[in-house]
Amino acid sequence: MDRRTFLTLSALTGATTLFAQLDEIEGNKQIFSGNILVTSLLQKLTIVQNQVGYVQFNILSFDELLKTAVRCKKPLTPQEVQFIESIFYGDPRRYGFYGERTVPQLSTVTQKKDVTYMDKTGHFLMRGPAMEKYTQIKRLVGNDLVLTSGVRAPVKQLYLFLKKMEFAGGDLRLTSTSIAPPGFTFHSVGDFDIGKVGFGQYNFTEKFQETDVFKKLYDGGYISIRYTTNNPYGVRYEPWHIKVTGGNETA
Ligand SMILES: [Zn+2]
Repeated sequence: MDRRTFLTLSALTGATTLFAQLDEIEGNKQIFSGNILVTSLLQKLTIVQNQVGYVQFNILSFDELLKTAVRCKKPLTPQEVQFIESIFYGDPRRYGFYGERTVPQLSTVTQKKDVTYMDKTGHFLMRGPAMEKYTQIKRLVGNDLVLTSGVRAPVKQLYLFLKKMEFAGGDLRLTSTSIAPPGFTFHSVGDFDIGKVGFGQYNFTEKFQETDVFKKLYDGGYISIRYTTNNPYGVRYEPWHIKVTGGNETA
């Protein structure tokens, strides 16, 4: 983590927090300490995910996360909770993310009656417009289509965000170019990602645009893409992300 990022984190988490204390420490020690929090949180979230299962973890609420972590004897510390709240409620424009908020409260619960589990995918879709759009797309593309990510409640989004953050050495600006912070992803309210069966991680690269799946979707005019090239939200171009609800952007 460089000093600028570190100071951003400090500002986000408030004057009395761990990061403010760390701010007074010079040199490598502060980098090490900041990463310890992210790494420790990731370990706890992974343990909870293993406990509740990959599928249910997608819609796990924050309260359930806290309870399950306690049950696993890996309770979140007050500093960890404060850090999560600062990411969730803080203004992400501070680190260059300009997307709109999609979830008002960290404690928001995804109702089981509002989602449908999509067989063999490991993911849920929101009932209503998201399900209808997926059905249209499936009809157009056929068996080559795979749902690669569906509903992601704030906890799941936090987990993915922290993974990127760890990879980016704690750089929030870099992290948020490839993933929205928890509370700011449209996956929490209906958007989903699609790919080509058997294409694996290439589904999340620009290579996806070269597939017949993408060409069919694009030519059919079925999809409006949430994050177009040079979009104003600070997010990379994601041709695999299907926009379902919300937003004023023309894409
Ligand atoms: Zn997406």
